[in-house]
Amino acid sequence: MAHPTDRLFREAAETLRARGNAVALTGAGISVESGIPAFRGIQGMWEKYDPMEYATIGAFLQDPEKVWGMLKEMVDLFSRAVPNSAHLGLAEMERRGVLRSVITQNVDGLHQAAGSRRVIEFHGNAEELICLSCWNRYPSRVKIREGIPPRCACGKILKPNLVLFGEPIPWDAQEEAETEAKRCSVLLVIGTSAQVAPACDIPLLSKRSGAVIIEINPEETPLTKSVADLHLREKAGVAVTLLEREIRTPDPSH
Ligand code: NAD
Ligand code: ZN
Repeated sequence: MAHPTDRLFREAAETLRARGNAVALTGAGISVESGIPAFRGIQGMWEKYDPMEYATIGAFLQDPEKVWGMLKEMVDLFSRAVPNSAHLGLAEMERRGVLRSVITQNVDGLHQAAGSRRVIEFHGNAEELICLSCWNRYPSRVKIREGIPPRCACGKILKPNLVLFGEPIPWDAQEEAETEAKRCSVLLVIGTSAQVAPACDIPLLSKRSGAVIIEINPEETPLTKSVADLHLREKAGVAVTLLEREIRTPDPSH
């Protein structure tokens, strides 16, 4: 278990304090401690539903009723989940002016629930459903209560307004994320396996613009030995809490 006196944590906190102007890039790993399983690493519902079989636009277009079996379970999980100390710690860092924004690959809405104001949803969210035929949009909660699979007034089965594998990134999110990545002085990369493109290219953009890259992940990723300057090998909840505390009140004994 890491402790604030750990050299790496101290170095990370000092970097954040000295440079400020940080951005966080988060992935499924940050929500694991809220009970939402990531694709890689700790399993759960993804043992039952292979993302490559269920979470692709091809699968949805071919058999939307089958894909809704997985989506219903995912949306139910999201509605029960609450932000953990990592989400809350990032929101606090934003309030204190250390963090300028969060770029998230997640679609669970937990950053906003924690109080983060500037959240760029790279892969959309599960709050809204969209009709791929007439582009009508509906709030998920209301429509899902009417029955599964939820249908548009035109009769077509609705799709959550999130990015399935094979779909493009919403252009405004892509543009905003790139701007933030290039502008920041520190990039906190939290709970992402860095295997899903183009989100996995964001750290390189920051690095090329001179940012310090701090990775928080209990495992190594392709970033660890390439672009990451510091790797805090801890769960997000513990690591962000320690960092946030250390930035706020540096241990005078150091
Ligand atoms: P991933 O599933 O590919 O990788 C998860 C990473 O998180 C792994 O590297 C793992 O070591 C790490 N991890 C596990 N537990 C952790 C913890 N407690 N603290 C910190 N790190 C931890 O996730 P990805 O890179 O985000 O790519 C998967 C794609 O699927 C993304 O688009 C993702 O957002 C989406 N997805 C979203 C959710 C969600 O919205 N909560 C859940 C599953 C998948
Ligand atoms: Zn329609």
